[in-house]
Amino acid sequence: MGPPGVGKGTQAARIENHFSIIHLSTGEILREEMKAETSIGKQAKDFCDSGQLVPDPILLDIIEHRLFHDDCKNGFLLDGFPRTLPQATGLDTILKDINQELDCAISLVADEGELVSRLVQRGKELGRSDDSEEIIQHRQKIYWDQTAPLLDFYRNKGLLKEVDGIGDISEITNRILKVLQ
Ligand code: AMP
Repeated sequence: MGPPGVGKGTQAARIENHFSIIHLSTGEILREEMKAETSIGKQAKDFCDSGQLVPDPILLDIIEHRLFHDDCKNGFLLDGFPRTLPQATGLDTILKDINQELDCAISLVADEGELVSRLVQRGKELGRSDDSEEIIQHRQKIYWDQTAPLLDFYRNKGLLKEVDGIGDISEITNRILKVLQ
């Protein structure tokens, strides 16, 4: 978990390699669905493009469908999901159904000003339609309003680990590996 631009995707890919587990980024899945113009992609597009959260039932369908695959049996890393309380409680139900438990919820922590300038840069480099400055500000606000309350949800379960998300990419990976081990 962590606000947009904190480096969740970058770090998730490195942790995926380290443990040889499946990395599921809901942002990536939605971008692929939009590119392929599937029914999910069409439903998600306006929300994603304006920096809003895609409705919970769509996300829960995607995750449920994906976690039932055999390739998730040996472990998985969720990147960008859950982002709301109903998603978190829905995830608990799915996990029960597949006899799995979360080991840890990692929150990458960083200052908002730093993140906005990183994202403006990424928008220029990757041409992501939701990385313009106004939409970035909106996505930050949504994180603090809707997703940050989940930190307490996982803190209360004893699963939350907070990791400083500022610094060298490999240094941050090492911090994450340290809390996981
Ligand atoms: P990300 O790549 O994780 O920053 O996600 C990009 C966009 O996809 C977000 O701004 C949302 O519009 C949508 N999205 C990704 N994951 C979720 C989620 N768990 N719940 C709702 N919307 C999501």
